[in-house]
Amino acid sequence: MAKLTVVSGQGGKLPAAFLLEMHGRRILLDLGEGPQPGVKPDLSEVGSVDAICLSHAHIDHVGSLDLVGQLGSPLVFATGQTFGLIPEAVLPLERRLQLPVSGKTEISGLPVIVGRNGHAPGGIWFHFAGHGGVLYMGDWSAESLLLPFDEPPAAGCLITDASYGDFDEALSSQIGAIADFAAPGAVLCVPAGGRGPEMILALNGLGLEAIACPVVRREMQSLASEDTGTISAESRAAIAALLHAMPRDEEWSPNRVIVATEANAETGLAAQLLQRREEGFRFLFSGHVPAQTPAWDMLQRDEARWLRWNVHPRLQDTMDLVTRTGAEKVVAAFVRREEMPRLEQWLGGRLCRTRIIPLPVDRDPLLKAAE
Ligand SMILES: [Zn+2]
Repeated sequence: MAKLTVVSGQGGKLPAAFLLEMHGRRILLDLGEGPQPGVKPDLSEVGSVDAICLSHAHIDHVGSLDLVGQLGSPLVFATGQTFGLIPEAVLPLERRLQLPVSGKTEISGLPVIVGRNGHAPGGIWFHFAGHGGVLYMGDWSAESLLLPFDEPPAAGCLITDASYGDFDEALSSQIGAIADFAAPGAVLCVPAGGRGPEMILALNGLGLEAIACPVVRREMQSLASEDTGTISAESRAAIAALLHAMPRDEEWSPNRVIVATEANAETGLAAQLLQRREEGFRFLFSGHVPAQTPAWDMLQRDEARWLRWNVHPRLQDTMDLVTRTGAEKVVAAFVRREEMPRLEQWLGGRLCRTRIIPLPVDRDPLLKAAE
């Protein structure tokens, strides 16, 4: 029987790992850790898989690749940008099969369409044909000013990022509040491979001279130089112009607007400047803040601000996606049930509450014959 099994990712901000079984293939969708450090999926009942598909390189989607030995010897599929953020020691080159950022492709003999997810550079969603269509969104956003979002095809079964639950505020209204906080000088903490370049672009658009830490600068350089379809030609040109104008300011001072990794000031320039807090550096966090991180401690003590910068879908975005794809079964991932009462009510019988989701019998005779 074709089915989808939620290994991890349902019922809270948990690591992503979903097992898709169809046409005799076993495909694992993401293999994350956290975001709470040390939280890993239980793979004891997964068995060997044919392939692992990685949506993007954030730790809650790729952080458990060290457990791959429990899954046989699968090939791993992702885009070049995603692979570029995963060390060879974690995933040897001979295991990797590179995917395009959008268009038709094939994974373990199955026809698949991928598209850009608007959430991370090189991040993609996966659409598997057959059994009514299965669409795995990973994390996604339709609001990014920099990263394009490709419209996915219709699918009967949808696994979607519902991290924000019922939250429905627009990114456009959040940027002004962040710019106001940052104007006198601030350290804006961001994850590697995330919202850093977009933040710099937006804040400079509002007249703030935001500068990048070395990690975000390298991300901007690769976005400006790569012609892989990750971002538009206009965005590439805008980033190149910003890089050209940006001072190579290694003398970080508290009156500058500094966009710096890591997201919760665990490492990177954000952690270094945290050590120099008494010089007057002000800190802003804008994403999910796990407990026992420097960001968590500072926020508890009221020594930093938290203002959201949307990188996940709002309630309206999720409802639009469900409507447009025509999904009859929806896994609302990475969120606690208490945080989505409106979404739960709106989805009604379409919301999957069990870990195992049977997929309908294939109507396409060619695909059926291949089973
Ligand atoms: Zn992510």
